[in-house]
Amino acid sequence: MKIYVDYDDCLCETARSFSELAVEMFDKHVPYEKIRYFELDKSFDLDEEQYERFLVRGHEPDVLLSYEETLDASAVINEWLTLGHEVSIITGRPFSAYEPSRKWLDEHGFKNVRLYCLNKYGRDNPVYEDEYSLELEDYYKMDFDFAVEDSPKAFKFFDHFKDLRVLVFDRPWNRECVFPGDNYTRCLGWEEIKNIVADATRR
Ligand SMILES: [Mg+2]
Repeated sequence: MKIYVDYDDCLCETARSFSELAVEMFDKHVPYEKIRYFELDKSFDLDEEQYERFLVRGHEPDVLLSYEETLDASAVINEWLTLGHEVSIITGRPFSAYEPSRKWLDEHGFKNVRLYCLNKYGRDNPVYEDEYSLELEDYYKMDFDFAVEDSPKAFKFFDHFKDLRVLVFDRPWNRECVFPGDNYTRCLGWEEIKNIVADATRR
């Protein structure tokens, strides 16, 4: 199986960290469970200038390296690799955050996965000369059987794949979202994701 895995809030608890950062930086108290929107400025009620600073701080290496791993993420991904599945981590983080993002993976048991940056949210000025910075055109040439993603904003990147099953990692900001098709399944955690992929592999 070829598997696309998003990074933030699939492998690690990014939003929980942003929730703490919003208190620290702006005295905005929005607990994780109350984060209703994928757009952080909306969720934390930040103006443009605050949002800008928030994203800059949130992508600094010490912050990126401090994220907690999501329960069972590395165990499941390593099991997939052992079984011969191809796993690509495809993040919407800016390419400038590649190095600390790679370091976090290496430090949390994801040493053997490939990491790519794809400008999913228009936040980045992409660098195209690196093999791990994906141009849309290159991304569209890739092929996946499964995608694990939490952000409804990224669903449009799946439209062109035929027969892709999208496993939506359950998060407060995707609970009200109407899924684009019946190939989308809400999953409560990595155990459930693992079982769905295992079922499909057996068929
Ligand atoms: Mg994400």
